[in-house]
Amino acid sequence: MEVRPFTVGMFQVNTYLLTDPTTGQCAIVDTGESNELVGRLKALDPAPDVRFILLTHAHIDHAGALTDLQAEWDVPTYCPRLEKPLFDTLPYQGTMFGMPHLNRAAGRIDHWIDDGFALQLGETTLRFLSAPGHTPGQGCWFDDEHILVGDVLFAGSIGRTDFPMSDPRTMTESLRKLLQLPGHLKVWSGHGPMTTLADELATNPFLGYLREERGIASRGASANARARQAEPVDGAQ
Ligand SMILES: [Zn+2]
Repeated sequence: MEVRPFTVGMFQVNTYLLTDPTTGQCAIVDTGESNELVGRLKALDPAPDVRFILLTHAHIDHAGALTDLQAEWDVPTYCPRLEKPLFDTLPYQGTMFGMPHLNRAAGRIDHWIDDGFALQLGETTLRFLSAPGHTPGQGCWFDDEHILVGDVLFAGSIGRTDFPMSDPRTMTESLRKLLQLPGHLKVWSGHGPMTTLADELATNPFLGYLREERGIASRGASANARARQAEPVDGAQ
């Protein structure tokens, strides 16, 4: 499939337009918190043939503009089942994050989905991997080349686990599971640049425990940090 990112809104969240190249059928992944994405997608020529709206998780920057998207594209919408408690807070999530002007009605979810769910977008099979921790039900969508990870994993970082419904231990397990997928997968995160699973497994400073478990040598920043630790300390005071 083709993956086209659209970075929108005050949180600079990455939303995505997925296109099956054979049929031209499209899916939108995540929404931003305003109607900016609707405007940018409506400006495309040719107009995208939108068949689905998919959510990675229900934080306001990823799901807050669902009503705007659904007003334009009244298509089946999918959200992780475990995310429902957070999704239900959307009408007052702005208040929770100190921005009450962002409070608004939550959109409509047609399908609450679980780990292992698969969806056919034209001739592309999209699979869902549940990877909670940043939120109760956060998940990832992937095919044979690409994975959209929301706020689970970033280039050189991982999602925050200090929010009210976060769980750091679950996050550790989810990253272990995510990093078992093929390393060539291109990782499209909810914020920041694209990376690959192999690059993150080799260099991400938050994945040292996985390198230890698998006997993988670090490179990049983590390797330098280890070299420094191993150096004799001259003239230590
Ligand atoms: Zn988030």
